Amino acid sequence: MTIERNPTRSVTIGSIKIGEKHPIAVQSMTATHTSDIDATVEQVQALTAAGADVVRIAVDSPRDAEALVEIRRQTSVNISVDLQENYRLAEVVAANVDKIRYNPGHLYHIEREKKWQEKVRFIAAVARDNNCALRVGVNCGSVDPAKKELFSEDDSIGPMLASAWEHCELLESEQFENYCVSLKDSDPLKVIEVNRMFAEKRPDIPLHLGVTEAGLPPDGVIKTRVAFEQLISRGIGDTIRVSLTVPNDRKGEEIAAGRGILQDIENGRVRSVVNFNTEGLNIISCPSCSRVENEAFIQLAEDVKAMTAYAKTHSVTIAVMGCRVNGPGETDDADLGLWCGPKYVNLKKGPRELGRYEYDVILERLKAELDIVIDEKRQG
Ligand code: SF4
Repeated sequence: MTIERNPTRSVTIGSIKIGEKHPIAVQSMTATHTSDIDATVEQVQALTAAGADVVRIAVDSPRDAEALVEIRRQTSVNISVDLQENYRLAEVVAANVDKIRYNPGHLYHIEREKKWQEKVRFIAAVARDNNCALRVGVNCGSVDPAKKELFSEDDSIGPMLASAWEHCELLESEQFENYCVSLKDSDPLKVIEVNRMFAEKRPDIPLHLGVTEAGLPPDGVIKTRVAFEQLISRGIGDTIRVSLTVPNDRKGEEIAAGRGILQDIENGRVRSVVNFNTEGLNIISCPSCSRVENEAFIQLAEDVKAMTAYAKTHSVTIAVMGCRVNGPGETDDADLGLWCGPKYVNLKKGPRELGRYEYDVILERLKAELDIVIDEKRQG
C-alpha cells in the first residue's frame, strides 16, 4: 500500500533523520532509575537490540545528568533526554544526547518569575550549540495552565493545539527548525483528532505519535494501533512510540509492537478500524519509567485489570499511574485514579482525592469505589 506522507521537513536526531519521507523511526524509553548506570545501560542495550532508533531517558536531577555521561559512553543508540521541571539541566546533558524533549506544561514549575519564552530560548540555544533536535512534547494531563484557561473545561484538544502552535512559532522566530512535536492523550480517539488538526494547519512539522499510558498488552497495543492506523494511513507521523506497562526486562516489546504496527500498515493489513470501545470499561496505565516509585506498580496494574473484569460492560475509566510527577494530573479525567508513591497508593475519584492506602488494601478500596461509580452511572 503506498501512503502519501505529509511533506514534513527533515529533522536530524544523531545518526537518523525523521520527516521528509525518511522511514518512520521507532522509539522507546528506559524505565530504570537513570542514576543506576548498570541497569540503565542494560536496558538501553536491550532496546537497541530490539531495534530502537532512539531511546529516551528521563533526567530529573544533577545526579541523573552525571549518570548520563557514562550511559552515553557505554551505548551507541541515539539518545533523547526527557526533561521535566528542571529545564536548566538541558545545558548539562546536551553534549551527551541527540535530542531534548521538553513539556510546555512543565516550564512553569521552577523560576516562576521567568517567562516561558525565555526558558524555551535557552533550551533552543543549548540544542543548537550541541546539534540536538528538540521535541515539543505536549501532554493532555499536563497542558500549559495558561492555555487551559482559554478554553472550556470539556475541551482538552484546544489548549493542547494552542500550546503546541505557540511553541512552534517561538522556535521558528529563533530560526530553530530541527524540532518535532508530539500531542499525546490516553484516549486514542483524541490522539487521532488532535494530531489530524495539528497536521492540517502545520503539515510541515514532523510529528512524534503516541498514546500515553496505553496500558498493559494486548489492550495497550490495540489502543495504539487504532490511533496509528488512522493517522499513518493519512500520511501523518514521522516517529512513533508504543507505551506499554511491562516489566523492565520486557521493554523491548514496545519496539516490537511499534515495528509490527508499521509493517501491517505498510502491507495494507489495516484492520477495519476498531471503533475503540469507549462504552465499556477502560483501564489506562502508564508505561512506567525511571520515575516509578515502587516496583509493585506493574503488578498493581495487572491486579486492577483482573479485579475489575466483572465491570467490563460498564463505561468507567480507571487510571493507574506509577509516580507523583505525572500521576496526580494524569488521573484527573478518569472516573477513578490510582497513583503510586513509595509506600502508599493514592486513590482519586475524578480530580477529588479519596485518600492513600497501603499496597495490600488498595484493591479492596478500589472495588468499593468502583461499585459506587457503577451505581451512580446507572442512576444517571
Ligand atoms: S506516570 Fe510517572 S512513572 Fe508513569 S510513565 Fe509517567 S512519569 Fe513515568
